[in-house]
Amino acid sequence: MGQTLYEKVFDRHVVAKLPSGQYQLLIGLHLIHEVTSPQAFSMLDGRGLGVLMPERTFATVDHIIPTTSQLRPYSDSLAEEMMAFLERNVKKHGIRFLSPARGEQGIVHVIGPEAGLTQPGSTIACGDSHTSTHGAFGAIALGIGTSQVRDVLASQTLAIDKLKVRRIEVTGSLRPGVYAKDVTLHVIGKLGVNGGVGFAYEYAGSVIERMTMDERMTVCNMSIEGGARCGYVNPDETTYRYLEGRPFTPKGEAWQRAVADWQSLRSDSDARYDDTVTLRGEEIEPIVTWGITPGQSIGVNGTIPREADFPVNERGIVREAYEYMSLQAGQKIRGTKVDVAFIGSCTNGRLSDFEEVVRLVRGAGLTVRPHVRALVVPGSQAVRRAMIEKGYDQILIAAGFEFREAGCSMCLAMNPDKLQGREVCASSSNRNFKGRQGSPTGRTLLMSPAMVAAAALTGEVTDARELFHVS
Ligand code: SF4
Repeated sequence: MGQTLYEKVFDRHVVAKLPSGQYQLLIGLHLIHEVTSPQAFSMLDGRGLGVLMPERTFATVDHIIPTTSQLRPYSDSLAEEMMAFLERNVKKHGIRFLSPARGEQGIVHVIGPEAGLTQPGSTIACGDSHTSTHGAFGAIALGIGTSQVRDVLASQTLAIDKLKVRRIEVTGSLRPGVYAKDVTLHVIGKLGVNGGVGFAYEYAGSVIERMTMDERMTVCNMSIEGGARCGYVNPDETTYRYLEGRPFTPKGEAWQRAVADWQSLRSDSDARYDDTVTLRGEEIEPIVTWGITPGQSIGVNGTIPREADFPVNERGIVREAYEYMSLQAGQKIRGTKVDVAFIGSCTNGRLSDFEEVVRLVRGAGLTVRPHVRALVVPGSQAVRRAMIEKGYDQILIAAGFEFREAGCSMCLAMNPDKLQGREVCASSSNRNFKGRQGSPTGRTLLMSPAMVAAAALTGEVTDARELFHVS
C-alpha cells in the first residue's frame, strides 16, 4: 500500500511518539511575526531559554504595519511598540528579519514562498491560521498558537496529532471568469466550515494541476476556513519552476538532488485516503459570501438560501447571518451596494492577482464609483516594486483605486485600514466573521479579486464576467 505525501513528510519529521499519543514533530521552518511572537519571546525569557535554531526561524512584520506610509515611528504607538519589540527579539536571538528597511517585508505567507523558504517536503509552522498557504508547495504547514510558538522557538518541535487525509479532486476545467478563489469558496461551501476538522486536505485533479503556484496558494490558504488543519498540493514541474533560483532554494547540484527528493515525496498512485471528494470544475461559478462564515456563500447570480435549506444545527448561525448582514432569504446578492473594495491579503495579494485586476480594469475603461473607497494593497514589498515597475500603480490610481504599501491591511484591520460603522466591503481576503475588518458592525463579502474590482467600478456586487465581457 502506497503512502500520501502527508504521511511521508510526517514520518520523516517524527522525533518521538509522546505518552499522550501525540507526536513530537521536527519543524523545518518557523516563520514569526509581530503579533503572535511577543508573548512567546517573553515566555522564553521567563524560563531563561533561548531560540534553539535561529537559522530556521525567519521574521517579518505584516499585521500592524500601516499601509499609507512605512516611515518610523508609526503614528500608532502600540504598533510602534510591537515593531520595536520584534526588532529587539530578532537581534537578541540572531533571527533573520525580512524587514521593511531591507525591502524584504510582506505578509508572512507571501514572503515565505517568494524568498524560496517554503519548500516541498518541509514542515512549516507559524503563529497564524493561514500558514496552510505554504502547503501549495507540498509542505505540511501548520498554523499554531502562542504557546506553540514558544515551544518551536525553544525546541524546534511541536506536539501534534496525526491527521487523516482527504483527497479533494477538482476535475475538468474552470469556465472563463472563474478563479482559484471561487474554487476554494466552492469547496468550503460544499464541505462546510467544519467539514475538514481532523483532516489534511490534499488538492488534486486537472483543475489544481493546471493552476499556477499563486493559484494553488489561494486554494491552500483557505483550507483552514474549511476546518482542515492544513492543505497541500503534490509538488510538480510548476512547483520546481516557481522555486528555482529564489534566494533560499538550493543551487547547482544541490538543486538537482532536492528536486529528485521532492519528486519521491508525491503521494503514491496506490495511496490510501481516509476520504475522497470529487468536484467538477465546470460547475463552479464566481462566488460571493453572503453571511458571516466563508461557508455561507452562493454563485453571484444566486439568491440567499432559506433557513430550511440548512441542517437544523446550522440554522442558528444562518439566522444570525441574516440579521448581521441585513440580508433576507430569497434576496439576490447581485446588486448589493458596497462601500469599500479591498484587494490584497495572503489569499489574493500576489502579483498575478493584481495583473488580472489591471488587465480587466484597463479593458473596461471605467473608474471606481465615487461612493466606494477602493484599496489595492500588495502582499509584499517585492510585489509592490514589481507593480510599480510594470506601471500598474498608475493604471490603478487613474481608475480611482488607492495604491498602498505592503501589509495585511484591511484583512484583519490591526492597523488604520478599517471599515466604518455598517459599511459593506467587497474583499479578496479570507474571513467574513463579524467585525473582522475593524468595525464591530462592518460587513464583509468575500470574492475573487476580479469580482472585487467589478464591485469597485459599479458600486455593487456585479458579475465580473458580464462587466468585463469575459466569455
Ligand atoms: S492577510 Fe489576513 S489572514 Fe493573511 S496573515 Fe494577514 S491578517 Fe492573517
